[in-house]
Amino acid sequence: MSEVEARAKSESKTDNESGNREKKNKPKPADTAALLKMSRVMTMEEIVSKLVKRHKTNCPFTIARTLGIHIQFHDLGTNTRGVYYRKLRRRLIVIHNQLSAEWQRFVCAHELGHDRLHRGMSRFFLEEHSYFNPGKFERQANLFAVKLLTSFDEAQSGETSEQICARNGIPVEMHQFY
Ligand SMILES: [Zn+2]
Repeated sequence: MSEVEARAKSESKTDNESGNREKKNKPKPADTAALLKMSRVMTMEEIVSKLVKRHKTNCPFTIARTLGIHIQFHDLGTNTRGVYYRKLRRRLIVIHNQLSAEWQRFVCAHELGHDRLHRGMSRFFLEEHSYFNPGKFERQANLFAVKLLTSFDEAQSGETSEQICARNGIPVEMHQFY
């Protein structure tokens, strides 16, 4: 056995010996299935309803500020409605200052969605060119926004999604996300 081989062998032995001590606490197969099911239920609805309960409001501005997210209003030009920016511990939502109040509120809710749903990325920058033809993250943020803004409301029987959305100040272009 060469010296290199010997070292490799001893290293792998060390790895084996430092094995898992947590095995005893591992859930049984049936529990694993239940846990998986539970983590699946922790969907957008759960995230939104927890947020609304904790903050006692569904106002995206209030929630964002309470969470320590800075909100700024700037002229973002013709294609960008809002931006969510995260760098280290600083989180920032920039909203286009020329939008209607209705749109500004929706954009804030959408960007808050990025903060809540897409936090896994340590440095995350999204420029919003895609509200109307959204990719996965944009779609999720739109869904989050619609759920947040309608979270104190319930559809009456026979009511259309347009009616619920309109009643809750959601821009008509976003009604499809209800
Ligand atoms: Zn977005």
